[in-house]
Amino acid sequence: MEILRVLELYSGIGGMHYALKQSGISGQVVAAIDINTTANQVYRHNFPGTPLWNRTIEGILLDEFKNLQFDMILMSPPCQPFTRLGRQRGIADPRTKSFLYILNLLPRLSPLPRFILLENVKGFESSSVRQYFVQILMECGYIFQEVMVSPTSVGIPNSRLRYFLMAKISTESISSKSKDLQMSLLPAETESSVEPSLSSPQKPVTSSLEKEEEMEDRVLYKLETTNDAQRKLNQNRNLSIRQIQDFLEPQENDDMDQYLVPSDVLLRYALILDIVKPICRRSICFTKGYGRYVEGTGSVLQCDLETEIECVFKNLDQFSEEEKLQQLQGLKLRYFTPREVANIMGFPKSFSFPDQIPTRQCYKLLGNSLNVVVVTRLLHQLLSKWVSPSTRSCRECRSWRNVSSAPPN
Ligand code: SAH
Repeated sequence: MEILRVLELYSGIGGMHYALKQSGISGQVVAAIDINTTANQVYRHNFPGTPLWNRTIEGILLDEFKNLQFDMILMSPPCQPFTRLGRQRGIADPRTKSFLYILNLLPRLSPLPRFILLENVKGFESSSVRQYFVQILMECGYIFQEVMVSPTSVGIPNSRLRYFLMAKISTESISSKSKDLQMSLLPAETESSVEPSLSSPQKPVTSSLEKEEEMEDRVLYKLETTNDAQRKLNQNRNLSIRQIQDFLEPQENDDMDQYLVPSDVLLRYALILDIVKPICRRSICFTKGYGRYVEGTGSVLQCDLETEIECVFKNLDQFSEEEKLQQLQGLKLRYFTPREVANIMGFPKSFSFPDQIPTRQCYKLLGNSLNVVVVTRLLHQLLSKWVSPSTRSCRECRSWRNVSSAPPN
């Protein structure tokens, strides 16, 4: 059987490599390239047999790339130039230099790699870098497909909306066979407010009146809008998504106390923590600041389920600091462990961090990585031999917005 030779650029801790393995595609990573020495330690620990180049991509010569004779590129270029929190400098940002270098190099490779898969943050789709990327792909004769996917669309209780571009050299064709993925094509505008709602037969139908009543009963105890609260409620009802408890470590582990949210964080930030229970079917994106910063960096887990969270939060401002702390501590809020975050992100049991990597570094590396299950699905789609009658060449491709605005079924 033919073995695909795969080049993994910006390899980090090897999320792409795991997706390749889990996809069952017969492929071999012929080089993984990254400049982050901690990420490389983790990569080497898990893939000791894979050639790992600790080098800047823009310092690698065309001939060195040619010698690798790769058939496929998997890559997650640095996303800071495109994040909404960043300054969105895109092409002008020095961190895009290495990606532009790759794009300039691509037409000079012969033969061209047959497949390319790129992952990036939401925001990339409207950047000038994406424009340039697409232009190069078309000039080189690739066909491609762009999708926005969050792990919730593959049944995982975690929001991590990401942009993906899959390209094939035009003698191949991109399969549109995978119904799952068709369902997860998302309009750009939906980002965090609406997750792709997969239809589930068991999903209870709630009338708008019932919804209103339900919301009246609910105490908006945190700094959230009614819409936020309703969205969380809906997410927790979506039975096509698994529960958080499926991804947790055994709770009787003695060393879990180290993950408890510290008192100062509880007192200062309780109202903005995103709290989930083991039975929930949602969590927010785990970012590289998890465990260090509070707002929007990832959910925390409520471990004491006897205590009603609403009761704790309802009268919180009437208490003294000491009582407040006591109340909040009663919930036993803790961070997800790095192993649990890795589980949620689809890393297999065999994945581990070397002992010497501090917990914060583990969160940071995971936060930069990707959801392995999502990429596994996309690789399936990219590599599928099935030829869709609707396959069209790049020149005929509709624009990204049109392509992605297919309604999620
Ligand atoms: N997909 C990876 C993470 C990618 S994050 C994973 O699964 O972990 C982007 C990575 O690009 C970071 O690890 C960063 O160290 C690396 N990087 C950024 N600029 C680079 C450059 N110029 N050359 C090589 N690696 C670079």
